[in-house]
Amino acid sequence: MDCDFLVVGGGPVGTTFASLVAKKAKTIVLEEHMRIGEPVQCTGLVAPRVVELAGAQRTILNKLNGAIFHFPGGQDVEVFSKEIKAVVVDRGELDRICADRATRNGAIIRLGERFVDGIVQKDRVVLRGRQGAASTEHDALLAVGADGYKSNLGQMAALERSKDMVRGIQLDIEHQEERQDIVHVYLGRKVAPGFFAWKIPCGHMTRIGVCVSRENDAPIAYLSKLLKEQALEGCQRITTISGMIPLGAPTRTYSERLLLVGDAAGQAKPLSGGGLFTGLMAAKHAAETALTALESGDFSANGLASYQERWKADIGKELDRGYMIRKGYLRLTDKKLEAVGRMLNKDEVREVLSTGDIDFPSQVAPQVLKAAPGLLKLAPQFLRSVFSR
Ligand SMILES: Cc1cc2nc3c(=O)[nH]c(=O)nc-3n(C[C@H](O)[C@H](O)[C@H](O)COP(=O)(O)OP(=O)(O)OC[C@H]3O[C@@H](n4cnc5c(N)ncnc54)[C@H](O)[C@@H]3O)c2cc1C
Repeated sequence: MDCDFLVVGGGPVGTTFASLVAKKAKTIVLEEHMRIGEPVQCTGLVAPRVVELAGAQRTILNKLNGAIFHFPGGQDVEVFSKEIKAVVVDRGELDRICADRATRNGAIIRLGERFVDGIVQKDRVVLRGRQGAASTEHDALLAVGADGYKSNLGQMAALERSKDMVRGIQLDIEHQEERQDIVHVYLGRKVAPGFFAWKIPCGHMTRIGVCVSRENDAPIAYLSKLLKEQALEGCQRITTISGMIPLGAPTRTYSERLLLVGDAAGQAKPLSGGGLFTGLMAAKHAAETALTALESGDFSANGLASYQERWKADIGKELDRGYMIRKGYLRLTDKKLEAVGRMLNKDEVREVLSTGDIDFPSQVAPQVLKAAPGLLKLAPQFLRSVFSR
């Protein structure tokens, strides 16, 4: 056996899993790219707890206290807190910190090696790959798919993919926003059908992007429009990134000798698309399950089912509620969204919103509904069914 645990994917979730198990189990990580953290496919907006979890304080580019939500019809709802609610990080650097920690704990990271296919046998899992022109093969007791939204490993095990997907594009541009403490969020079908657009200050540069549902035009069309509206189209472009975000976890995130974690398991938050916090939490639960299986020798699907119980107990409710609210959001016309903006734009509602936590956004919803009861009238049955869960 080459190793106990073979992780496909050297993103932050795969390497965090590796760092948590590598002192007790021989762990190999396969990463198709030659350098960890490249290419970046992320805005890097996270709650401060995420940088603590990742030990990545030095990656912080800016700290934010709130947001202005721009609704259709020109309604702007500002939510502000004295507390730091979110930070923007250098995502590539955060990934490298996670990978260094895994290596320090004894994991082996094989760069430039791509997993291609594999087979689950009675006593092991065998994964085949490519490194340059060479074919590779590894066997392990357990394979962990941390290979992002496409998850070839999930496909190998015939596990379902995430329920939904949005695609995004983002630019870093040379432009200094006057207010450095607030993120702008743009809503509405004309701006970002099926999701939202954003503008985030990072000192001398500004991060501006948009995500849309898959069935719409490419997000670049919406980004060009936003840049024009914001009179930013002439700014020097520093970087462009794009990518997909899987939303709505599939019914099963494990099978015999296999666990899926992070984007591979559709664990990003359906309301914001943020997958770092949830992925790192799921990596912790996957690590605990893997070490228990190593002790008992039981890598059957039944034996590994506790992984899903653990992560669901921790972040499952938020992900489920978020997904339901997203489904309701998708049904809102711009006219209705405009009405929502008006209902939220009251002191008592903004105060409730300012207590919210970006990792658990649905938690403030019951108080928001109390402060803005008109919202219930928009979709009474739908909202009651979400919050009776
Ligand atoms: C436009 C955009 C903006 C985002 N903004 C935010 C944000 O602000 N905050 C936030 O929390 N999240 C954000 N996300 C989501 C976040 O980027 C992901 O949730 C996070 O990267 C998930 O980490 P992961 O390790 O599961 O997967 P990934 O980071 O995708 O890592 C998977 C790794 O697996 C490797 N891999 C894939 N297939 C193979 C293979 N066959 N063999 C070997 N290696 C393989 C890939 O190269 C990659 O390095 C954003 C995503 C997008 C697209």
